[in-house]
Amino acid sequence: MKKIAIIEEIHKDGIDLIEKNSNYKFEIITDVSENNLIKKLPEFDACTLRVTKLDEKILKHCPNLKAISRHGVGIDNVDLNYIKNNNISLLITATANAVAVAEHVLSMFLCLSKSIITYDNEVRAGNFKNNAEKIQTFELFNKNILIAGFGRIGKKLISRCLSFDAEVYIYDPYVEDEVIKNHGGIKVNDFEEGLKNADYVSLHMPLTSETKNLINYNVLKKMKKNSIIVNTARGGIINEGDLEKALNENIIFGAALDVFLNEPVEKDNPLLNNKKVILSPHSATFTDECTSRMGIETTKNIIDFFENKLDKSMIVKL
Ligand code: NAD
Repeated sequence: MKKIAIIEEIHKDGIDLIEKNSNYKFEIITDVSENNLIKKLPEFDACTLRVTKLDEKILKHCPNLKAISRHGVGIDNVDLNYIKNNNISLLITATANAVAVAEHVLSMFLCLSKSIITYDNEVRAGNFKNNAEKIQTFELFNKNILIAGFGRIGKKLISRCLSFDAEVYIYDPYVEDEVIKNHGGIKVNDFEEGLKNADYVSLHMPLTSETKNLINYNVLKKMKKNSIIVNTARGGIINEGDLEKALNENIIFGAALDVFLNEPVEKDNPLLNNKKVILSPHSATFTDECTSRMGIETTKNIIDFFENKLDKSMIVKL
């Protein structure tokens, strides 16, 4: 019988799947302190993983571990070198969350461009008519949208953007031109050229040494005055200090962030007091439907892994 550690709670639908399978025993671990994980994990054959960091210090105590099943697709909280060298597979919920993130981006685009939060505040303050027409709002119709990173999420986002009759530009040097064309996108070879032309920008690439601080003050200065940028990918791709400066100097119209350099976001992060940015707590996938899909896919991936029938798209190439 295989033993599965559920590190941090997942949706009940995912738990049900292993509970009903007599080949597996599981334990939910809610105390994710380093000490507790070092104490607990050695006995397990596989684990699920949300945001807890699994580094060498913990992993070297896990001689039985064959697979880590991420509840999500980001892989930056796992020591990739260690697991590669120790033959531990890394699994992701590759089909579960792209739609939820794409819808989150659209809600942020629309919320910012229609100034929904400002309108709401004005109505509650009794200013039903006074200021309403002075508040600047925009349409997505006929605008240029730049999607940077054209993987699972980028591909779900493009069709939704096209339905607003927008032109969608794609920057992803690792995707073939034909793929972009077939999805109705226009390929952009030079990222900064793409930014200059964009009214809306959405980031969908991993955080790597290449993408860290990709969006900095100098880059933001090249964007259109009324442009909007949304980051649901990873904190650190946009330099937060530079974004704050650009918003204060009215270099761009607004921004929305679901992800931050440090999570939970620190109380003294100046963006918390900036009205030109809307924020969410890394919650783009927290829809009822998506949490259920992710819970199921997280545990199903482990079962399929041990039964040698896991689809290749769920296994990270290390
Ligand atoms: P994916 O691996 O399917 O796609 C990523 C794409 O980025 C790939 O096509 C790759 O070629 C491209 N890319 C890599 N480096 C690039 C660069 N320098 N410039 C432009 N493109 C580059 O990933 P995905 O599932 O679409 O996820 C995208 C991002 O969203 C990841 O950072 C992931 O961690 C994050 N994410 C966040 C949430 C959330 O809750 N906010 C949920 C899911 C995923």
